[in-house]
Amino acid sequence: MRTAILTIILTLIVLSLSALPQNWTQYYFKFKINDKSELKELTTLISIDNVKGNTVWAYANDDEWAAFNALGYQPEILPSPGYQENPVMREASQTTRLWDSYPTYDAYVAQMYAFQTNYPNLCQIIDAGTTVNGRKILFAKISDNVSQHETEPEVVYSSTMHGDETVGYVLMLRLIDTLLSQYGTNPRLTNLVNNLEIWINPNANPDGTYFGGNNTVSSARRFNANGVDLNRSFPDPWGGATQTHQVENTIMENLAHAHHFAFSANFHGGAEVANYPWDGIYTLPADNNWWVSICTAYATSAQNNSPAGYFDDLYSGSIPGVTNGAAWYIIYGGRQDWHNYFKKGREITLEISATKNPNASTLPNYWNYNYDALLTYLENALYGLQGIVTNGQGQPLNSTITVVGHDNAYSTITTDPVNGDYIRMLLPGTYTVQFSATGYPSRTINNVVITAGQKTTLNVVLGEVTQEIPLTMGWNLISWNVVPSNLTVQSIFSGVQSNLQQVKDTQYTYAPVMASHFNTLSSLTTGKGYWVKVNTNTSLSVTGTPVNPAASSIILNPGWNLVAYYPESAMNVATALASVSAYLQEVRSINQTYIPGGGSNTLTQLAPGKGYWIKVSQTCTLTYPAAR
Ligand SMILES: [Zn+2]
Repeated sequence: MRTAILTIILTLIVLSLSALPQNWTQYYFKFKINDKSELKELTTLISIDNVKGNTVWAYANDDEWAAFNALGYQPEILPSPGYQENPVMREASQTTRLWDSYPTYDAYVAQMYAFQTNYPNLCQIIDAGTTVNGRKILFAKISDNVSQHETEPEVVYSSTMHGDETVGYVLMLRLIDTLLSQYGTNPRLTNLVNNLEIWINPNANPDGTYFGGNNTVSSARRFNANGVDLNRSFPDPWGGATQTHQVENTIMENLAHAHHFAFSANFHGGAEVANYPWDGIYTLPADNNWWVSICTAYATSAQNNSPAGYFDDLYSGSIPGVTNGAAWYIIYGGRQDWHNYFKKGREITLEISATKNPNASTLPNYWNYNYDALLTYLENALYGLQGIVTNGQGQPLNSTITVVGHDNAYSTITTDPVNGDYIRMLLPGTYTVQFSATGYPSRTINNVVITAGQKTTLNVVLGEVTQEIPLTMGWNLISWNVVPSNLTVQSIFSGVQSNLQQVKDTQYTYAPVMASHFNTLSSLTTGKGYWVKVNTNTSLSVTGTPVNPAASSIILNPGWNLVAYYPESAMNVATALASVSAYLQEVRSINQTYIPGGGSNTLTQLAPGKGYWIKVSQTCTLTYPAAR
């Protein structure tokens, strides 16, 4: 009798399972290892979820479970961490309990599209693709002028690629709502929306979250509908992905190929820690100290806004809530390493709740713990070194940017080829930065200063540029800040030949009407100033590669020197000549004067295209500040 009942029950279970396309089991279990070195092999067989001391928690599908059991470990099967009895769900028609409930799948989709409807100038919903079981992977793109591709860093928050790690799912929805509803009234949020292009994907694995059906998260699973861990199936730079590539991976990869995501975070649960690269090798990244600093800022904020004990899993040195990925446990095929290695991004993994799929009543607490940290993290993309790389015709370039003596092949970044804009986040300090692009000579800029909490703007032109120097009828005092390939006087002045009357420097002269033996000036020098006389108002075009002011010093002799001005923009006299301030006695333009400390200086700024007389008390070296 008992057997008969059991048979009926088993038959019912099998029938109900076969009614679903996912006919596989998800095992969750723990076991002991003798040494952490065993993890490097184990991570290729099962989905390791957490490691504390010698205890490992992991997931497996049927095949993985069979392979693992052949190894002789003694696993203890545990209840599914995604199981939640009678979760509080919100229907699409409900407009209350937005943040202390879980949305049904339909409610989620409806809420996303309502953001776009309600805030059309700030929000677009991007349908990035369809999962194995036909659900949508949606992104809310948020920015002022959201329909334009502006020269702003593109930043991404994505959550719940492990479908049973649901806290980030609801927090992302709430973050979208908060950014949109408080735009224009909350300065901190407004600043983010004005200066960044923010992409938020609340759920990267809806098939996992809604494994029990569209109306409940009660049976949420880690894996996608094919029983694959989506954080083990991205292309891997180190060991090869451990799991079969899935359509959900392709969707994320295609989106990243089509855009230029400079900064991102991937939200998970099951622990409370900020995890930075690399996940697949023990070598620390070139920007290790910067990664630790941004993770520490997140962890510290979360700790300061929560009861004791929150967000303090693991340690990086003495800092709780921060870990290097591999130092915790090695994984292959994760999104973090894929994004950072192949897309030259900056992505961390944020584990924000020890409980994976908690009671919905706790969600507002997690919001309060993480709200400031979520904004603080995005604000990193407002700072650092930013600018645009173009050629001399103003066309944006696909340029590689290398911090000399700091970067390795894995840490260089590239411009967004659409607009040529870039962001290189760095700790405060002084750096040498090289810009290169195929078909152009590279440029190295010295003395680039990064200040905490500030943006340093550095726009760079590669290849030849043309400087336009206005000439007025009569005498002009000029110079150029490019290096022409041909410096003969005939070549430099070929464009204004018919109007040119005379060119001279402190010793030599050239006049087209004069017999050639009177023309003592034949070759010109970049770095000097020249007198030029023309018979009409005109403009002189000088083409060459831009001078790098900080790397191009000019020797000044005691007394008067006629010199060039190198920076790309005008500058206060004292700022421009700070390098010789100890010896500076007087500066003259063609009709103005500056005396250090003088009360009635007519010359206040030095400007590109002009030449200047500079008087110094002894031999010294003039180095203009770097272009800004
Ligand atoms: Zn996870």
